[in-house]
Amino acid sequence: MYNPPPYSIAIHLYESMLEELGIIMQQLFLDANSRRLLRLLRERGISYIDSVVEKGAIRFPEVESELELDTDGVARVIESLEKSGVLERIVERSLYSCPECGDACFQVKTACSSCGSPELLVGQVIEHLTCGHIDFDNAFLWEDRLRCPKCGRHLRAIGVDYRRIGRAFKCLKCGAISPVANELYRCRNCGSENIKDKLKILHLHRFKVNKEALSSIGDVPEKLYLLSRNLESEGIIVEFDKSVKGSSGVYHTFTLSIKYPGSGNSSPDLVMDIVPMDDPSKRKSEVLAFYVKAIDVPIGRKALAVYPKIGEEFRKLLSTIRVELIEAENFDLLVDKISEHIRNGEKPINLGKNLGKLK
Ligand SMILES: [Zn+2]
Ligand SMILES: [Zn+2]
Ligand SMILES: [Zn+2]
Repeated sequence: MYNPPPYSIAIHLYESMLEELGIIMQQLFLDANSRRLLRLLRERGISYIDSVVEKGAIRFPEVESELELDTDGVARVIESLEKSGVLERIVERSLYSCPECGDACFQVKTACSSCGSPELLVGQVIEHLTCGHIDFDNAFLWEDRLRCPKCGRHLRAIGVDYRRIGRAFKCLKCGAISPVANELYRCRNCGSENIKDKLKILHLHRFKVNKEALSSIGDVPEKLYLLSRNLESEGIIVEFDKSVKGSSGVYHTFTLSIKYPGSGNSSPDLVMDIVPMDDPSKRKSEVLAFYVKAIDVPIGRKALAVYPKIGEEFRKLLSTIRVELIEAENFDLLVDKISEHIRNGEKPINLGKNLGKLK
């Protein structure tokens, strides 16, 4: 028998530890939309979220309208809450789906299995065993008795000289009678036609809210929450997940919004996003997403707080639109810096030597 050396056991343990750590890190800070859904689940006492398939896409209409997000945005929120254990996926229904577009709404076309004609009738069929004639039962009706329309003899006893075959299709074109008809599933969305064997199966999910996980997961990390309490005791108004209307008309949500005491503004003085940047492959899209928001909102000060620190090129990009960048190695240190930043007021990004020439 093979005994793995202790070293490989240690590596294995380390790997599974990292995996767990990954999950914990995701729980540390859910994005703003996920937290909005969390709050909605709590406030409304929602137990289930149901999905529908529409034009080939899986959608969550209720969540979409509540969060004012598009289909992809909602899918990301659902995925993030599933990862954090708040939502549990249950297969609620399996549906035939179109192999072309994925939609699940069909019109079923029937046609004669012999000649392909669509001129079909369906009914209960009788076979006259004496002569072998097969037809719909109403063709055998003769006054109040049954008589064979082919040979003219009266039918006597079921199982003796005739039998009931059951439901069958009759083709008006070729006259064939068959228990089966050809079926073509015409997709209501894209119009493609397929036989049943070519259809796919789609699972429609229902997401069950895990109440235990829901109550244990914090809206906002403890440390950030404490910071907001401290700021509020100094008269600074702090709001989480503040929605701000952009010049384009689109609403943008920011992790934090700040209003200083005595500020005459009706809108916040400072809006800030706190974004984990631990995945380098996603940094660019995260920074660009913030860049677009920052350009669109008519707010005096806009800040992006990230951990760990991001590269120089992002720093330069953000400085071109005067975004205040706050960076730290980890979340705890970042909250300390955010605290300092909010209290000390505006500190533009250090532009560096190269960038100075651009001006
Ligand atoms: Zn007959
Ligand atoms: Zn036919
Ligand atoms: Zn289709």
